[in-house]
Amino acid sequence: MLHIDSTACSGCGSCKKVCPHGVLSIEQRKARVKVEERCIECGACQLNCPEKALTVQKGTGCLFIIIKEDILKLNSGACACG
Ligand code: SF4
Ligand code: SF4
Repeated sequence: MLHIDSTACSGCGSCKKVCPHGVLSIEQRKARVKVEERCIECGACQLNCPEKALTVQKGTGCLFIIIKEDILKLNSGACACG
């Protein structure tokens, strides 16, 4: 699940650039969730947001990342399968 704090968002576009699945867009200088169902919850957008405006809550996203981060305790920061 994604949450964008539009007040904090500066519209820099970093989240859109790093998203491997084209989930996000920038509209009227604010990040927007375009196709949430494509999100694999990799966390790259959150890690690369300079304003800390974006949060990703893990649910049923990418199994590769869940295994890597939650089970193996490796902090990858991005999905390698996208
Ligand atoms: S968590 Fe990953 S897939 Fe989802 S919007 Fe962010 S960068 Fe894209
Ligand atoms: S990286 Fe953060 S500040 Fe930049 S557009 Fe995305 S949500 Fe907004």
